[in-house]
Amino acid sequence: MDSEKIFQELNTKLKNSNILKNEPMSKHTTFKIGGNADIFVKVKSVDDIKSIVEFAHTKNVPFYIIGNGSNILVKDAGIRGIVIKIELDNMKIENNKKDVYITVESGKKIAQIAR
Ligand SMILES: Cc1cc2nc3c(=O)[nH]c(=O)nc-3n(C[C@H](O)[C@H](O)[C@H](O)COP(=O)(O)OP(=O)(O)OC[C@H]3O[C@@H](n4cnc5c(N)ncnc54)[C@H](O)[C@@H]3O)c2cc1C
Repeated sequence: MDSEKIFQELNTKLKNSNILKNEPMSKHTTFKIGGNADIFVKVKSVDDIKSIVEFAHTKNVPFYIIGNGSNILVKDAGIRGIVIKIELDNMKIENNKKDVYITVESGKKIAQIAR
């Protein structure tokens, strides 16, 4: 399946995520290196993650999940398939006077949690 077809089909399935074609990974890694990802999705909802993973399995398209790109190195040739950048960043803090519990979605930046 070519990337244009993947883009078109996936675009119709996603509700509120931002899908891009031939996106330079250098824009999404701390080291500012890496060639283009065929398809790059900034994911804003759990439903969209489910849709992408289901689509990738059904169509046999490789996919790769990233967060803030601070612990990955991408080669100059880029990434074939779909890159899913998790942008879910809700945070809940519960304090029962003895313990504090912090629940965060996996796209939250560590610095924001620490602050
Ligand atoms: C200069 C520098 C300083 C750092 N300092 C610290 C520090 O002080 N403290 C500290 O704890 N860490 C530190 N780190 C490490 C870095 O912050 C951690 O590795 C961080 O947890 C990576 O998160 P990320 O969202 O950037 O992941 P990414 O780099 O995007 O991804 C890392 C790996 O996790 C996978 N992944 C990411 N998100 C998901 C997800 N939601 N589901 C499944 N798999 C996922 C990716 O596929 C990849 O294999 C530092 C790194 C650098 C480069």
